[in-house]
Amino acid sequence: MSAEQDGTPAARLARRARQVVPGGVNSGQRSIPGLTDLVVTGTAGARFRTADGREFTDFHAAFGPPLLGHNDPDVARATEEAGRSLGHMGVGITEGEVHLAEQLAELIPSVEKLLLTSTGSEATFHALRVARAATGRRLIVKFQGCYHGWHDAVSLNVISAPEKVGGHDPISTGILPEVLAATLVLPFNDSEAVRSAFAEHGQDIAAVIVEPVPHNVGALLPHQEFLRTLREETTKAGSVLVFDEVITGFRHDLGGWQRISGVTPDLTTLGKAIANGAPVAALGGRADLMDLFSTTPGAPAFFAGTYNGHPSVVAAALATLRKLREEPVHEHVFRLGDRVRRELTALYDRLGVPAVVTGYGSVFVTYFMPGFTPDAPPRTYRDLLANDASLFVGYRRHLTEHGLFELPLNLKRSHISYAHTDADIDRLLEGTEAAVGAALAE
Ligand code: PMP
Repeated sequence: MSAEQDGTPAARLARRARQVVPGGVNSGQRSIPGLTDLVVTGTAGARFRTADGREFTDFHAAFGPPLLGHNDPDVARATEEAGRSLGHMGVGITEGEVHLAEQLAELIPSVEKLLLTSTGSEATFHALRVARAATGRRLIVKFQGCYHGWHDAVSLNVISAPEKVGGHDPISTGILPEVLAATLVLPFNDSEAVRSAFAEHGQDIAAVIVEPVPHNVGALLPHQEFLRTLREETTKAGSVLVFDEVITGFRHDLGGWQRISGVTPDLTTLGKAIANGAPVAALGGRADLMDLFSTTPGAPAFFAGTYNGHPSVVAAALATLRKLREEPVHEHVFRLGDRVRRELTALYDRLGVPAVVTGYGSVFVTYFMPGFTPDAPPRTYRDLLANDASLFVGYRRHLTEHGLFELPLNLKRSHISYAHTDADIDRLLEGTEAAVGAALAE
């Protein structure tokens, strides 16, 4: 029943939201077609509750931050304490900020110095600004299927229609054509395309920015040789290599994908899982690049932000980090992730549904298409064009009827947290079988 006809408190709140909040939500992709009155009233561990009294086991996980689970008590306590004792001064520095930067520099191979922002978009924005400041060059290279936030230079070619792949496909109007023209879009995992772009434009390329695992289209696992090519070509041309580890950082490894792959970028952006849901992100990297930022007057690149280093979110990051270091979080989420991928693969085999289940560690996604296996997964955005989007979205809609939540939007990945249990996975497997059956019958 739609909100207009229904007088439940949830429907009324959703209707009020649509009157004062454009689209009724505060960020793109929170409004889900077919789930009109999703008013969230509480979260705890692996679950969330809605105003109409439903409870869901959550595999969406707010697009990735709560690796420990929602409202982790240790993180919540640290956040509250900092709020009580420190508030936010906006002058000088606090001990927590120093402690956090020191730990990130110790853990992440590329990070010698680090600045905090509130969002991942700000971190990638500043990465590109400082790359241009350092090189005096114009062009940025990004890859089809990667998302790096909402700002103009990178707001293109994420989930593109087939006819838009290979050209410029902005995700918004209102972007100056000359800004779009300064971003080259290349296919992910295609070393030859990278070499030829550098052969043609190398001396104009300020930066290459990449999600080392493009998780904004589910999961495209990188060829090791591709990441090495990015490192070689940027080094040869004197361009800056940026790994956007907003999703992969902490979730896959405390040292990020760069530690897993052994390929060290010049700059790294972090966010999401570093603070389990508190709004904090970071840009770190080579000291000579980071020192270009004008936190001291007169330096070439300007950097500021009223809420940067806010004590409450820094405390959340420190508490998250402590727990990730002290408890077997990665072991737990990786074991459940392996189990989900293995057992979903067996399920689709048994059902005779052409599908490939892929991902890494705590991240999983099923693409509904033939021709791929977990050992030979899709590697480029073009591969994903074969995915059956209506089955992908359809089974996730039916999952909600079983109290299970994976975001019902095409190509979105799902996440496992430390709060999920084997019993949650049992229910996910049972629910998926029923939901896929129902979606196929439509
Ligand atoms: N980079 C990546 C890889 C992301 O996934 C996101 C957010 N989904 C961002 C940057 C932007 O982060 P934020 O939404 O915090 O601005």
